[in-house]
Amino acid sequence: MRIKAAVLHHPSRPVTVEVVELDPPKAAEVLVRVAAAGVCHSDVRYADGDLGAGRWPIVLGHEGAGVVEAVGEGVTHVAPGDHVAFCFVPACRSCRFCLAGKPNLCTEVARHGARGMLMDGTSRLRLDDGTTLQHGLRTACFAERAVVAAGGAVPIPRELPLWQAALLGCGVVTGLGAVRNVARVQAGDAVVVVGCGGVGLQVIAGARLAGADPLIALDRVPEKLELALAQGATHAVDSSADDKPLATIRRLTGGGADFAFEVVGRPETIRIAWDAIRPGGTAVVVGLVPDGVEASIPAIEFLSDKSLRGTYYGSGDPAAELPGLAELALQGRLDLAGVITHVDGLDGVEAALDRLRRGEGARTVLVVDADLAGAPQL
Ligand SMILES: [Zn+2]
Ligand SMILES: [Zn+2]
Repeated sequence: MRIKAAVLHHPSRPVTVEVVELDPPKAAEVLVRVAAAGVCHSDVRYADGDLGAGRWPIVLGHEGAGVVEAVGEGVTHVAPGDHVAFCFVPACRSCRFCLAGKPNLCTEVARHGARGMLMDGTSRLRLDDGTTLQHGLRTACFAERAVVAAGGAVPIPRELPLWQAALLGCGVVTGLGAVRNVARVQAGDAVVVVGCGGVGLQVIAGARLAGADPLIALDRVPEKLELALAQGATHAVDSSADDKPLATIRRLTGGGADFAFEVVGRPETIRIAWDAIRPGGTAVVVGLVPDGVEASIPAIEFLSDKSLRGTYYGSGDPAAELPGLAELALQGRLDLAGVITHVDGLDGVEAALDRLRRGEGARTVLVVDADLAGAPQL
């Protein structure tokens, strides 16, 4: 079928919305009518060629929600009409990592995903001239429809508006997972969150739910710090105005945080997160750093029992956790609408990427199908 989709032809050129060809779902795949999609900083990394060569042409978009339109042979967990959120790691459930309880690191997903392919190693997307298009993070949901692996379409309650559910599959899974599965923040832990964009705000929401106190937000954009306070941060430190933000953090935490989360993806902010933790504390790097960039820390400080941790996609079982996260949103304990600073149509994708490049706003949600999405604007 012919669909409109946001295509990155080459990192030196803007993403363009155009008509492409989408093949029907094969066995163990699902066709989803996309309602809405969130624009994530990882999309900027793709669009700017920061993840290395060979990742284009590609249809971008990995965070979104929609309605199942058709299922391939053997798919039983969803049926046409079901509401789903995308999960960009459709774990194989049989590789070494999956069997060890680390499905976020599934080797099959990594093998095909690095080439932009679905789980059978092929693409369902192509340009009119026959050129194969890659699927952005196995999802490619900046498009009217998406064919994803069965495990990439997770059923969610119908009551949750799809324009909000769009955020579940990346920002929410990643942010809350870093807090719950990696740091395992407990009530009363001192937490610092470096970077308050779309994912950083979910880290703050997760830390607030875990009872972190103090819960300090650090950013250089006052608007984002306002959003952080609304998500439950107890303190906001504006690094554009405070010339000694680390001294402020040490004062607020009585000598350093138990956990610092870096949600920017830059060596400087990784260093800030490291410097913000106390002896025995842990810095968790959530941000996606461009390929080839190194970060440095004073290594003697390993002697003070400090740890530097990585995480990918919440470091848990994203597909299994997603329905529970949707439930939190339905109960009003997770404010998804509150982190959405812009709502636009599919054509607004390049403008949304530009805002992220400039560090403006938190999440843009692209409303692809206004009737399904239920968004207040447009
Ligand atoms: Zn993302
Ligand atoms: Zn696996």
